[in-house]
Amino acid sequence: MANRIPRTPVREQDPARRATNFEEVCLGYNQEEALLEASRCLNCKIPKCQGKCPVHIDIPGFIASLATGDIAGAAKVIHKDSSLPSVCGRVCPQESQCEGACVLGIKSEPVAIGKLERFVGDWAIEHASDDAPDKAPSNGRKVAVVGSGPSGLACAADLAKLGYEVKIFEALHKVGGVLEYGIPEFRLPKERIVAKEVEAVKKLGVEIETDVIIGRTMTIDDLMDREGFDAVFIGSGAGLPRFMNIQGENLNGVFSANEFLTRTNLMHAYDDDYDTPIFAGKRAVIVGGGNVAMDAVRTAKRLGADAIIVYRRSEAELPARVEEVHHAKQEGIEFKMLTNPVAILGDDKGWVCGIECVEMELGEPDESGRRSPVVKEGSNFRIDCDVVIMALGTSPNPLIKHTTKGLETNRRGCIVASEDGATTRPGVFAGGDAVTGAATVILAMGAGRKAAAAIHSYLTPS
Ligand code: FAD
Repeated sequence: MANRIPRTPVREQDPARRATNFEEVCLGYNQEEALLEASRCLNCKIPKCQGKCPVHIDIPGFIASLATGDIAGAAKVIHKDSSLPSVCGRVCPQESQCEGACVLGIKSEPVAIGKLERFVGDWAIEHASDDAPDKAPSNGRKVAVVGSGPSGLACAADLAKLGYEVKIFEALHKVGGVLEYGIPEFRLPKERIVAKEVEAVKKLGVEIETDVIIGRTMTIDDLMDREGFDAVFIGSGAGLPRFMNIQGENLNGVFSANEFLTRTNLMHAYDDDYDTPIFAGKRAVIVGGGNVAMDAVRTAKRLGADAIIVYRRSEAELPARVEEVHHAKQEGIEFKMLTNPVAILGDDKGWVCGIECVEMELGEPDESGRRSPVVKEGSNFRIDCDVVIMALGTSPNPLIKHTTKGLETNRRGCIVASEDGATTRPGVFAGGDAVTGAATVILAMGAGRKAAAAIHSYLTPS
C-alpha cells in the first residue's frame, strides 16, 4: 500500500562541512526520489493540505501528475496558483500549512509536499522554454509597482500577462526583496533560483528600474500625475528593524539582523572577492527566535563565530520553521531558551563585551495565544560576547506613508488595504509585508496576485 512507504529522506550537505560554507544545505530530491515520494500521496477526497495552503495550490493534483512522471503537467498545475514554487518549496512553513494537515501525518510522516514542490519548480526553471510567454496583447494601460519582492514580482507578472505595461521601481541595486537581501544563499540560491524567477518576470515584458526610492527619487503622486501610470501597487515590504531600547544598544558590535544579513547576502561580505566589511566576532549572541534569527545565527556561525540564540519563550513557541531550527542545531548553534536581555555591556573603547540577561518563565497566554514570558526576579546573569544581533521583527518603512497624501496606515505603520489590496487612495493598491507586517513569502505572493486582479477590475470597469 502506498501509505506504507516511509517518507523519502532528502539529501543534505553534511552539517560540519556546511557550517563553514554558504552553499545550499538541502540538496533536494532527484527524479527517482520525487516520484517515489509522490507515490505516497493518498489523493484524499477532501484534500486538507490544499485547504491549509494560503494560495490553495491543487496539491493532490500536482502530486498525481508527478507520480505518473508528468513533471511538466505538475508544473502547470502549481503555476495556476503560485508563481514562485522553487522559492516556496524551500522557505514555506510547510509543517504548519500543507504538511501539517496531511492525513498521512496522523499515524506516520506527512508527504514531503514542500520538497516535491521544490523539485517541480526547479525542473520548470531548468526546462523553461525559449518561446515567447503566453500573454494578452497590449491594452495601452500602465501600472507602476513599488518594490521587487515576492508581492511586487507576482503582481507585475499577472498584470503583464493581462496586457498591461508594467514597470517595477526597486530601491536597492538588486531585484528580489527579502529573497535577495535577507534569506541567505545556503537556504535560497540567488543565481540558480531567485535570478531565474526574476528573469521569467522580465520575459513577460516587465521593466525593472533599480536604485529608485519611491518617496525620495519620485513620489507616488509623481508616478500617477507626471509619469502617466494608471494605477500603482505598493509592495515595499517591512524592512525597518525593531530594537529593544535597552542600555548598550548603541555600542559597536550591535547589529540589526537586517543589516547583518544585507551585508552578507546582498553585498557578499562572505565572499573574498568583495570588499564589504562584516564583523561576526568570536562569540555572537542573536536575540530572537524567528526565521530571521535562525538565518542570522547560522550566518554568524559560517563567518567563524560561536553563535548563540537567546529567546525569551521556550522551544515550543519558536516561530521559525522547524527545519531551520533542526538545521541550526545540527550545525552546532547553542539555544538559550527562556532568556531575555536587559542590557548590552561595553568595554572602555565602546565595543560590546557581553550581554546581561534574565531568566524567564511562561505565564498565561497573551493575545497571540502563546504563553507570555515572565521575568524570574533576581535571575540576572551575563553571557560574554563581542557581537549582538537583534532579530526582533520589522515594520514597514514610513517613507511612502509620509510622502503619499490620503494613504492611511494603522498604528503598526502598515498600509490599510482591503482584502484585494485597495488602499484608501483611489488607484493605489498594496500587499505583502507592507500591509500585513512581516509575514511569509507565500502570503506576499498571494497578495500581489490578488491585487493584480483588483487592479485589472479597477482599470477595466464593466
Ligand atoms: P519584500 O520581500 O520585503 O520586498 C520589498 C521590496 O521593496 C524590497 O526589495 C525593498 O528594497 C523595496 N522597497 C522598499 N521601500 C521602497 C521604496 N520606497 N521604493 C522602492 N522600493 C522599495 N518567509 C517565509 O515564508 N519563509 C522563510 O523562511 C522566511 N525567512 C525570512 C528570513 C529573513 C531574513 C527575512 C527578513 C524574512 C523572511 N521571510 C520568510 C519573510 C518573507 O521573506 C517576507 O514575508 C516576504 O519577502 C515579503 O514580501 P514583500 O514583497 O511584501 O516584501
